[in-house]
Amino acid sequence: MSTSLLEQVRAALATVNDPEIKRPITDLGMVDAVTVDDTGKVDVKVLLTVAGCPLKSTIERDVTAAVTKVPGISGVDLELGVMSDDQRANLRTVLADGKAQREIPFAQPGSLTKVFAIASGKGGVGKSSVTVNLAVAMAGLGLKVGLVDADIYGHSVPAMLGIADARPTQVEDLIMPVPTPSGVSVISIGMLKPRRDQVVAWRGPMLDRALVQMLADVYWGDIDVLLLDLPPGTGDIAISLGQHLPSTEVVVVTTPQEAAAEVAERAGTMASMMHQRVVGVVENMSYLPCPHCAEEGKDHRLEIFGSGGGERVAATLSQRVGADVPLLGRIPLDTTLREGGDTGKPIVESNPTAPAALALSAVAERLAGRGRGLAGLQLGLTPTSKF
Ligand code: ADP
Repeated sequence: MSTSLLEQVRAALATVNDPEIKRPITDLGMVDAVTVDDTGKVDVKVLLTVAGCPLKSTIERDVTAAVTKVPGISGVDLELGVMSDDQRANLRTVLADGKAQREIPFAQPGSLTKVFAIASGKGGVGKSSVTVNLAVAMAGLGLKVGLVDADIYGHSVPAMLGIADARPTQVEDLIMPVPTPSGVSVISIGMLKPRRDQVVAWRGPMLDRALVQMLADVYWGDIDVLLLDLPPGTGDIAISLGQHLPSTEVVVVTTPQEAAAEVAERAGTMASMMHQRVVGVVENMSYLPCPHCAEEGKDHRLEIFGSGGGERVAATLSQRVGADVPLLGRIPLDTTLREGGDTGKPIVESNPTAPAALALSAVAERLAGRGRGLAGLQLGLTPTSKF
């Protein structure tokens, strides 16, 4: 056996990330054995975290591709096994950085992850569509993005990202967020239910526990941005989030309609009462670009839901919170946005030059460009706790 060839194979294996944990399989104790014989044939045994791992074929493909690329390798024989209880317990310790206690990583002083909660006054204004597209657009900017679907009524985020029936893998008490084709990692409140069709009839304490679970018991790793899709209104989840993660920055989604604007103002005011920063308003379903006029090169906009709601919410919230709350963008109505949601292919990826996609990407860039780290983060200069 050639030692240097073996070293090269090991180095190649170190370039393969576990698709859920997003760290090299070699660091996670997943490479059980690897040998190279005189003819350059590699035998490698990789241990999956759980039996029936949904991403087994991705791991198989990535390991084979990485090893095959090493010069002098004539073939790869990959055997897949499953970690023993002890090996899984070790992995859990590695992932939790030795900490046994559950804590919300984003609430720790020094956390560099920007947390944005997307709120709305009422349902159906496109809050989840906006959240999903912002997440995908931010991932497209090269950021590592996590998404928590905390909308107890809708929890439509997984379907919008093409992973409707996915269940998260669990390593001991740690839950792995589900990776999506767009690179965004997702946990949905719907994934905590035993069955997808089950109704979530939870009250305050249960919802609080579910939110903490999605923040503290999920292995988020070193993400740049965490987006939360909140349920509409000013309910229990919004209050819990304010208590557990006061450094969250809130984006309010509304439609141009007067009635929608009024309830959106309440959602924004609530966030500010919970000492969260309201960083902007997104007006969705702003207008329909008239398709006939567009063919003739004319910009004629049909204001199906009226006009001015976004500006009104931004102005009212600026006044109430005593700081500038800008209108971050106006997203037009677009059938491909709706279709993208239904088919699990977000418009910012599937039809990136559509006006709605461009408007969403511009909002994502604006939020991403707000800088990480210190904004909205309490610096812990006093000996008292953050809460
Ligand atoms: P919410 O999360 O506020 O309840 P959703 O994001 O689920 O709203 O959107 C409600 C419906 O409206 C979905 O079918 C979605 O595809 C559609 N929709 C949202 N925004 C737009 C838009 N700009 N153009 C066309 N359809 C939209």
